[in-house]
Amino acid sequence: MTPTGVVFDVSRGCVEDGPGVRTVVFLKGCPNHCGWCHNPEGRSPRPEIALDRRRCLECGACEEACPNEWVADDPESWRRVCTGCGACAEACPSGARRLVGRRVEVDALVAEVMADADFFAGTGGGVTFSGGEPLAQGPFLFACASALRAKGVHVAVETSGTWAASVRKDLRDSVDLVLFDLKHVDPARLRAEVGVGAPRALSNLRALLEADLSVQIRLTVVPGFNDGDEDLAAIADWLADCPGTTTLHLQPFHRMAVAKQVLYDRPYAWADVEPTHTSRLIEAQRWFG
Ligand code: SF4
Ligand code: SF4
Repeated sequence: MTPTGVVFDVSRGCVEDGPGVRTVVFLKGCPNHCGWCHNPEGRSPRPEIALDRRRCLECGACEEACPNEWVADDPESWRRVCTGCGACAEACPSGARRLVGRRVEVDALVAEVMADADFFAGTGGGVTFSGGEPLAQGPFLFACASALRAKGVHVAVETSGTWAASVRKDLRDSVDLVLFDLKHVDPARLRAEVGVGAPRALSNLRALLEADLSVQIRLTVVPGFNDGDEDLAAIADWLADCPGTTTLHLQPFHRMAVAKQVLYDRPYAWADVEPTHTSRLIEAQRWFG
């Protein structure tokens, strides 16, 4: 049976997610729980409702359309019974409710992104799978990647590295470039701030580099997590000990996700943390030559 996937966005004309002009496919689902997550809509593996309460007219059409029972006097009860069917979003007259995430088949997604084939060919671009953690939907991603590469399209995957070692072979066989979001090299910090399975990222990254796969490492410099001198020195030492050559790109933590988190009623632990200052990014670069 052909695998299907859950996609929450397809973004065209991107230039920072691999070579050339790219179409980025965002897949839902992530095993990590980074407090500073920039894409909260990628956390849940299922389609879900984004609710913008500022636009709500309190007309009740959503509750009427919902096949499930909401608890009277509990305005949050719908989240607990929600199956992501989207009926409330269709009924909502103000656009306060929006269904985020759609289930799609491999052939349909490939046809959708191949509409940009001329841009890929003209710029040396291609398709990048991001998320969430796109490898949480490995069978779907690899089926899409193989179909795209058969058409001559360059395929990249942006990943946190939180996946089983068995995924490495499929990555080597099915993608051209891995954009690896390294978060830290201290297993205890990774476990505490990213997720219990996050230390796996270290052995996975090392194995990808040993396998001579094309890997670009990205490090989001997050204040209070990995921006201290000791953190950066430890990360630089760890990378210096890795085989092969790779590129490292530092990027700043920003707070653009604050506005998005409210739509999913999730607390945002980093809401009061100042964005990474450019001067700190420049200083941080010193550790990496
Ligand atoms: S249908 Fe939309 S506008 Fe009406 S109560 Fe529900 S969220 Fe608010
Ligand atoms: S998406 Fe479907 S199940 Fe969820 S609240 Fe809306 S109508 Fe109810």
